[in-house]
Amino acid sequence: MQPTTLIEHPLIQHKLTLMRQKETSTAKFRQLLEEIGMLLAYEVTRDLPLKKVSIETPFMTMDAPMIAGKKLVLVSIMRAGQGLLNGMLMLMPSARIGHVGLYRDPRTFTPIEYYFKVPADIEEREMLVVDPMLATGNSAIAAVHRLKETGPKSIKFVCLLAAPEGLKAFHEEHPDVAVFTAAIDDKLDAHGYILPGLGDAGDRMFGTQ
Ligand code: URA
Repeated sequence: MQPTTLIEHPLIQHKLTLMRQKETSTAKFRQLLEEIGMLLAYEVTRDLPLKKVSIETPFMTMDAPMIAGKKLVLVSIMRAGQGLLNGMLMLMPSARIGHVGLYRDPRTFTPIEYYFKVPADIEEREMLVVDPMLATGNSAIAAVHRLKETGPKSIKFVCLLAAPEGLKAFHEEHPDVAVFTAAIDDKLDAHGYILPGLGDAGDRMFGTQ
């Protein structure tokens, strides 16, 4: 079973608190989500393998470390995944990108796929799947099932907030996928929202409420 890693860096925790506040504007919410995306990217890529390459400094040659293998593939679960993805891309501008479009049936909370597009050479890449909210876990579970069909070398799931119910369901369905989150909140409400949470991440990002 892969673990859940709680990323408690003070900058992330501070920015997350600002995002939770209901008076935070759409522009600020988006900016904070991107900044946290960048910080999460730093944490979740700690174990990327390095190789030595020969380079010339202005003074001499040296064997210096660079990331080994193909670039990562980042997959955004639409639409709220986009904010985290944009932040991660600031640190990893050459990463390949995929999108999975899912919406939640408001009555059953089951995910319905409306879009799926990933790069062609995925078998040679490590995959980071991003969605700010791991609530019931249904969307994340369905997205990762679809993405496994494309055969990436490995998958990590990165979110901002997780509910205990969603984490449990996700780990049961995908014990081989590590989860990284900035916070684990108390519970879900009857509509599948995380409490205390930050509201609907997509609505707050795009001002659609
Ligand atoms: N999706 C959101 O945007 N917010 C929640 O609290 C749960 C799912």
